[in-house]
Formats: sequence, C-alpha cells, structure tokens
Amino acid sequence: MKPKSEISFYNTASRSKESFSAASDMVGMYACGPTVYNSAHIGNLRTYIFEDVLKRALVAAGYGVNHVMNITDVGHLTSDEDTGEDKMEKGAAREGKTVWEIADFYTGEFKQSLRDLNILGPTRWVKATDHIPEMIAMIAALEEKGFTYTTADGVYFDTGKFPRYCDFARIDAASLAAGSRIDMGEKRAVTDFALWKFSPKDVRRQMEWPSPWGVGFPGWHIECSAMALKYLPQPLDIHCGGSDHVRVHHTNEIAQAEAATGRQFVRFWLHGEFLVLDKGKMAKSGGNFVTLKSVAERGIAPLAYRLFCFSAHYRSPLTFSFEALEASAAALKNLKSQIAAETAVPAEVSEPVAQICAPFYAAVNDDMNMSVALAALWDIVRSKVWSKAEKYCAVKNADEILGLNLLVPEERGAEIKTTAPSGFTVIIKSAQPITDTRQSEIVAKVEAR
Ligand code: AMP
Ligand code: ZN
Repeated sequence: MKPKSEISFYNTASRSKESFSAASDMVGMYACGPTVYNSAHIGNLRTYIFEDVLKRALVAAGYGVNHVMNITDVGHLTSDEDTGEDKMEKGAAREGKTVWEIADFYTGEFKQSLRDLNILGPTRWVKATDHIPEMIAMIAALEEKGFTYTTADGVYFDTGKFPRYCDFARIDAASLAAGSRIDMGEKRAVTDFALWKFSPKDVRRQMEWPSPWGVGFPGWHIECSAMALKYLPQPLDIHCGGSDHVRVHHTNEIAQAEAATGRQFVRFWLHGEFLVLDKGKMAKSGGNFVTLKSVAERGIAPLAYRLFCFSAHYRSPLTFSFEALEASAAALKNLKSQIAAETAVPAEVSEPVAQICAPFYAAVNDDMNMSVALAALWDIVRSKVWSKAEKYCAVKNADEILGLNLLVPEERGAEIKTTAPSGFTVIIKSAQPITDTRQSEIVAKVEAR
C-alpha cells in the first residue's frame, strides 16, 4: 500500500473521532443520494458538499475512492416510518407527469446542481428502480433467516429479532413505543419497517413489480443496503448522509444488511448536520426551501454557497440567510482578488509546497475543519515568507479540496438595466451572463410582485 497521511473522522457509530484507515488503497464509500420528486434544496446540497470535501480529503491523503451514490426513484414515503404517500407518485400528480418523467427531470437537475457547485460526481450512480431483483434477493435472505413477517400491506423487518437494533442511534425502544403516535397497523413493534409494500388493491401504481410476496414496491431502506453491497466490498469503509438518517434510515440499513449477511455492514459512518432557516428546518416536503436556482436569481454565484458551507463545521447546524450568503459571495470575491494579486504562475512546473500547506492539511485531516483550513489559506496568501510562485502552487493544492476555482479569474458578472412594460426600471445584477429569456423571466417576476 502507498503511504497515507494521517486523517481522522468523527464516526457516528462510536460517537468519537477515530483515525481512519482502509483495507486497501481504494476506499469504498456509499452516499445516500436524493429522492428525485422535487428540486434538491440548498440544505440537501450542504450534505453533498460535505461529502465532496470528504472524498477530496481522502484523495489528498493518498487514497483512491470508489464512491457510489444512489438515486431514490421509488419507495420513499412521505413519512420515513413507512406511512403516507409515495413521494414520487405525489410529485408526478403535482406536475401532471409520469413518475418516470419526474425522476428523469429531477435527476438531471440534481446532477447539474452538483456541477455548479464543483461537486465531483460519484464513481457510479445507481438507481433504485434498476435494482429491484437485488432488493428482492435480500428480502428473501432475511425471510429465510426468520427476520421478516408479512401483514396485509407488506413484508416487514422484525426488529425484535435483531437485538442490536437500537445501538447505532442510541435509542430506547420502550420509550419510543410509549411516545409513538404512528398508526401501527399490523406492525409488531413501532421500530419494525417495510421491506416490501403491496400495491393497494384499488389503485394502479405507476411503479410496481411482481415479487414472491405479491405485486408491489420496495421499502426505501432496502435499496441502499442492496445497492451498497452489490457495488462495494463488505464492510464498507464509509457510509455517509445527513444527520436525519441516523435514527431511522441508517439504523434500518444496518439491521437489514447485518441480519442478511451476518457481518459488519460499515466501518465509518459520517453524518452532516442540517442547514436550517431562522424559522426551523429546510425541508422539501415543507415547501419552505431555497434552491440553487433561487440563489442564482439573486445574482449570487453557486460557489459562494460552497464557501458559505465552510463557515460552520459540517457537524454543526448552519443557519441560512441571504444576507449571510451575500457576505460569503463578497468574501469569495475578496479572496480571489487577493490571490490574483499575491500569486504568480511559477516558471517551474511545481514548487515544494508540503511545508507551506501543512497547517491547511492538518485542519482538513482533523475531521474536515474547513473554517480553520480557510484561515490557514489566508495565512498563505498574506505571507511575506513565501514567493508568489510558491503561493500559487499552495493555493492550487488547497483548491483541490476547497473546489472554489480560486485561480480562475473572476467572471465579469452582468448588470442589465431595463424598463418593464409597466414603466418600472429593473436592474438585474448577476454573477453569470444573462440570456434574453432569463431577462424576460426576471422582469415578469418583478411585475407580478
Ligand atoms: P432526500 O432527497 O430528502 O432523500 O435527502 C438527500 C440528502 O439531503 C440526505 O442525505 C438528507 O439527509 C440530506 N438533507 C435533507 N435535508 C437537509 C438539510 N436541511 N440540511 C442538510 N442536509 C439535508
Ligand atoms: Zn440511503
């Protein structure tokens, strides 16, 4: 194995920071992807930015990363506890389209958001609806080992048969049951969850498949376990997602994967905290969310949002406001202009930068402490010790992790002054050039107010 830099991460499983190592040079990393029934909001994107930094940090530390990300296009119900409507069918009804069209559209939009934020795509995208046979096989294995039972509406995982069920989330099953307001139906315990749901008798679902138990569709949790184990060696080195997944989704993933295989599922679990609004959490289902498109409409570059995310540690909640985002946009501009003034392209191809970058990497390798890493970068830029060429190389290296295009000259944003049909003067300021169609859309929006 190649030598690696020392790197440590907070592992949700042990609730402590641990020194990371992998079984080989190639880290197997699974990230829970989006449910594609609506636009991803910038809260979702905060999680993908944290995972992107994680991957870039591993690469800088000397690893290769086999990164698998799923697209949830079936099975995620409006409640994580297997009740309510299917989010995909709900999205299709909202837009008068088929579920497949909705999935295609929002998958494309999501991938574009990743590109806009300089988030490196995964090694492999995996779509839930392409893996129904693998999910059925895993449910059959669980049935064979006695971990399932069947009710009128589906096949359930019997958490009572998996004594470690509550360990990961450190929950108390008895008090959960006492405090629960969930309609249990025929479920034996409040923590039991659906592996396979039957299609309702009176409704024809757009997405349904035959199975040994009846026509229906998979539960949401089974997809990630089945796809992760298909594409990555067990135990996975890393599994990551947002902090909301600890209690239900990842707890269920561990139960079904470890019950089916009899082996440890994942070594390192990493979770990103939520982006919140002053008034509470940002949620797709709640409708109170900000997208990257609404950020761009204000003339703020997507990478300003990436920098904004570095203002808090990924394990702390981050409160969003447009004022704070605008401050990050100004900070990014300032940083780039300082870099332009303080660096120069070296004559030699490379300069020794390990020493210059040491404090920067020390912060990144300490559970991705990005605000400290940014302070270290500022020290490099302002330094009177290093030459402009050395600083250029150091910034180039640091930007491999930051992904802020720090050496790309600032694009001249557009500023357009136009008169709306009602006679108002509209001034549009944008970080990107504005097309005629976009200009008309913005003017129409202003008029509608
Ligand atoms: P979803 O599309 O709802 O399945 O969520 C995609 C990812 O975004 C998951 O990893 C969630 O944990 C994460 N997520 C959801 N809401 C937020 C939020 N407000 N802030 C940060 N991450 C979030
Ligand atoms: Zn998942």
